[in-house]
This record gives sequence, structure tokens and C-alpha cells, in this order.
Amino acid sequence: MSVTKKELLAVASDVKESEPMACRTTFRIGAEAGFFVTAKNAGELKSLLGLIRSKNEKYFILGAGSNVLFAARRYDGVIVSLDGDFRKISRDGNTVTAGAAVRLAILEAFAVKEGLSGLEPLSGIPGAVGASVAGNAGTRFGSIEDTMESVTILDGALAEKNLPKNSVTFSYRNSSLTGHIVLEASFALKPDRPPEILKRINSFMARRSATQPHLPSAGSVFKNPPSGDPAGKLIEACGLKGYKIGGAAISSEHANFIVNTGAAAAEDVLALMRLASEKVEKNFGVKLEPEIKVVI
Ligand SMILES: Cc1cc2nc3c(=O)[nH]c(=O)nc-3n(C[C@H](O)[C@H](O)[C@H](O)COP(=O)(O)OP(=O)(O)OC[C@H]3O[C@@H](n4cnc5c(N)ncnc54)[C@H](O)[C@@H]3O)c2cc1C
Repeated sequence: MSVTKKELLAVASDVKESEPMACRTTFRIGAEAGFFVTAKNAGELKSLLGLIRSKNEKYFILGAGSNVLFAARRYDGVIVSLDGDFRKISRDGNTVTAGAAVRLAILEAFAVKEGLSGLEPLSGIPGAVGASVAGNAGTRFGSIEDTMESVTILDGALAEKNLPKNSVTFSYRNSSLTGHIVLEASFALKPDRPPEILKRINSFMARRSATQPHLPSAGSVFKNPPSGDPAGKLIEACGLKGYKIGGAAISSEHANFIVNTGAAAAEDVLALMRLASEKVEKNFGVKLEPEIKVVI
């Protein structure tokens, strides 16, 4: 790597070298990253990305690490994490604005306390606001796009832009923000009594707890195909529920989850992903598209 710790420390105060990624992801898988740098505000982030780019260094923006698989033996680049100002939440009327690093659970807890409803369908999604807006996180009961009012991004030229909802295109687990960095987003919510909001959250959480595995994972591995059966049903129909390779297994609770049973390596997960896609394509002619981001 050409960028040095000293150069990174000149633009960001929190720089870690050879940081293990396993403890930064919900999969609990991942080798070391060359540098792990935390940006505490937009200014720091801009300076950091400017430096990284000037050095032609590769980088990856990490949120809560709940949708990623670090596949390389070592990530020879800079992992950029957001903290500080990016954890702020505020309210203006019925609009709540949250920084990119705010976990959805924290955002929801804030909304409950303020008596504001609309985020309940996102209950139990372990991501942070930035990645969840860029990836239009959601469930079949609703997606983050439903309440998002506007978003502030850092575009490819490192310029800050505030975009109203109608200038962003959202689709299933995707948006036109992919490739940009979300700095914060505002959500238009509706007043409601906190006990009523909590009741709905608890019901979504109970449903999730009954249908999803409790071992470490990165959520749904594949996107559901645009029509026909969902990915989990197709994988299950191939007889793969519970199938193990090394320390990874196709969950016996939900076939679209791969779980880390203890000491899974990234190769184990990738082998299971290949196996599931090949079998589904052979048996049903459906090409599965990964939902998790494989970082190499
Ligand atoms: C048990 C479990 C259940 C889950 N259930 C659901 C579910 O029901 N619905 C659902 O949609 N997802 C679900 N997920 C997946 C995951 O929580 C979501 O995709 C979430 O939005 C990812 O957020 P994150 O902060 O963890 O992103 P990360 O995993 O850290 O990153 C994901 C991607 O977003 C990019 N990114 C990170 N920060 C930013 C930013 N500020 N701006 C732009 N891009 C950024 C990263 O570079 C990466 O490409 C689940 C995951 C788990 C482990």
C-alpha cells in the first residue's frame, strides 16, 4: 500500500492498522484490513477520500457490517467507517434526520420516544442509515424509501448534495445512490402513541425471530427473483437446507441465510453460494443475484 499511517493521521484522528474485520461484521468472518479509519464528520471524510484517491488506494465504506462478506485473505486498502457527527439524530416537526452511522434500531427507538410512526416495517434490520438508504433496505411490509424525504450525499466528485426523494430512484434492495456516500437522511413520519408504535415493532420482531436464524449471518444471501418463488424457497426445494461446507451452513430455519456455525471461512460461504446458485439455475432456470456485498 502506498498511503502511510502518518498521512492518514494527518486527515483523520482514528486510524487503526491491520484491523480484523471479523469483529466488524455480523457474519463474524473476515481477515485483516490494511487500515481502518474512522471519519467523524463530512470534512474529515472528504479529506480522507481525497487522500486515498490521490494515492490510488482502494477503499470500502463500512456501515454496521450486516450485509458484507470480506472474502480476501487480507483487504489491502482502507476501510472507512463513520462516527461522530454521523451518529446524530434530530427532529423538526414530524421529520427526523439521522446521520449515516445511526443504526436503524436507534432511529426507531428515537421515533418511538418522540411518538412518530412509519419506520416499524424496518424493525430488526441490523444496518445503519447510510447503507440502508443506498440499498433501500426493507421487508415485505415496507422499505426505507417509503418514509425517506431527502438525503444528503457525497457524490463521485466529493461534492455534498441534498437530494429530495423525487430525484432518487429506488428499486428492490437498490437505489440510484449506489456508488455515492450517504451522509444523512430525513424521514417524514406520522404522529402516533408510543405504545401503539411499540406494539407494531414487537409484532414485526416476533415474526422475524420465529422465521430467521439466530447464528451469525449477513441476512438474505440472494435477492428474491423478480417473479416466482423467493430465493429461500428455491434453495430449499434443491434440498440444501442445513447443508454444510466447513464452518458455514445453509440455515435450516431459512434457506436464503448462510450462517456461521463457529469458525466459518469466507471460502466456505462462497462455496455454499456457488452451490446454491448452480443448483437453482439447473433445477429451475433461475439465476440468483447476490444481495450480500462480497468484498475482495
Ligand atoms: C440477521 C439479519 C437480518 C437482516 N434482515 C434484513 C431485512 O429484513 N431487510 C433488508 O433489507 N436487509 C436485511 N439485512 C441486511 C442488512 O442489515 C441491510 O442490507 C442493511 O441495510 C446493511 O446496512 P449496514 O450498515 O450493515 O451496511 P454494510 O453491510 O456495512 O454495507 C453494505 C453496503 O453499503 C455500503 N455502504 C455503507 N455505508 C454507506 C453509506 N454511508 N453510503 C452509501 N453506501 C454505504 C457498503 O459499502 C456496502 O456496499 C439483514 C442482515 C442480518 C444480519
